[in-house]
Amino acid sequence: MSFVNIKKQYLAIGMLVFVILFLFNTRPVFQCQFNPEQSSYLPTIYGITPTYLRLAQKADLTRLSQTLMLVKNFHWIIIEDSEEKTKLVANLLKESNLKYTHLNVKTQKSKHSTLLDINVCVFQTVKFNTSWYCASGVEQRNTALDWLRTHLATAEDKRGVVYFMDDDNTYSLKVFEEMRKVKKVGVWPVGIVGGMRVEMPVVTDGKVSGFNAWWKPFRPFPIDMAGFAINATMFLDHPEAKFSRKVQSGFQESEILKYFTTTDELEPLADNCTKVYVWHTRTQKPSILNPKKLKLKHPPIPDDHIEV
Ligand code: UDP
Ligand code: MN
Repeated sequence: MSFVNIKKQYLAIGMLVFVILFLFNTRPVFQCQFNPEQSSYLPTIYGITPTYLRLAQKADLTRLSQTLMLVKNFHWIIIEDSEEKTKLVANLLKESNLKYTHLNVKTQKSKHSTLLDINVCVFQTVKFNTSWYCASGVEQRNTALDWLRTHLATAEDKRGVVYFMDDDNTYSLKVFEEMRKVKKVGVWPVGIVGGMRVEMPVVTDGKVSGFNAWWKPFRPFPIDMAGFAINATMFLDHPEAKFSRKVQSGFQESEILKYFTTTDELEPLADNCTKVYVWHTRTQKPSILNPKKLKLKHPPIPDDHIEV
């Protein structure tokens, strides 16, 4: 009798162990099904980046692309300011494993200043060099928007968010988390821009009531390109929305935002605009010595065949 009982106990313990092992083995499956992070919907972020040939281009794009590799559901629209697409950018994109669209359009810069230039460009002196400074990326961002509209028109899922990303800024992964919350237009602070430590929307009772900006504070939206994101479907609702060369320098952000929103409609993100998740960093122009001019006795080995 007791022998039978012991056997039954062993049997029960054995079955229990089996059930525990089974549950343990199948845990990842349950995790997959019930993990809210994985099952919840993530809107696509369309990052629009104009880029142009310069010595630090690959360095800047490498840093940016390797940040973007860590962002889920991200589509990079990169537009070269060039007559032709370059191998450097094409290879960098291919090797990145990112989802991307590679476009190009050359900025037509007039050699002679016209009345229009005086309006849209400023005469500025940087380190004793005086030259015209015109808005950059206008044609490139517009080309990207044309592509986006065509893409979304036939896309099954039109939801997403559009972010205009310059190629030499510094982006925390947190800024991408924030912009997925955008309903129409979301805004947040930008570090080290416009002569300030931080340029930011002022939030009162959860609403944007003004802006803390020192550079051209009379702009309708005194905010940097890196400081907002727009619901992608709104670009279908507003086919006329684009950047313009006809506005004065620093007004590109206001130019695009005016189609979609008003100050009091802006959605303050990044903890009610109290956190900095993006910085308007600028890569210093490298100064490279010209060995031919130096007339060295032992000139360095030529390195023109090496992509830098
Ligand atoms: N850009 C461009 N063509 C140019 C100059 C700039 O396509 O002739 C791009 C650049 O790569 C960057 C964006 O336009 O992604 C803004 O330019 P930049 O970073 O020089 O502007 P800033 O830092 O002065 O705001
Ligand atoms: Mn920049």
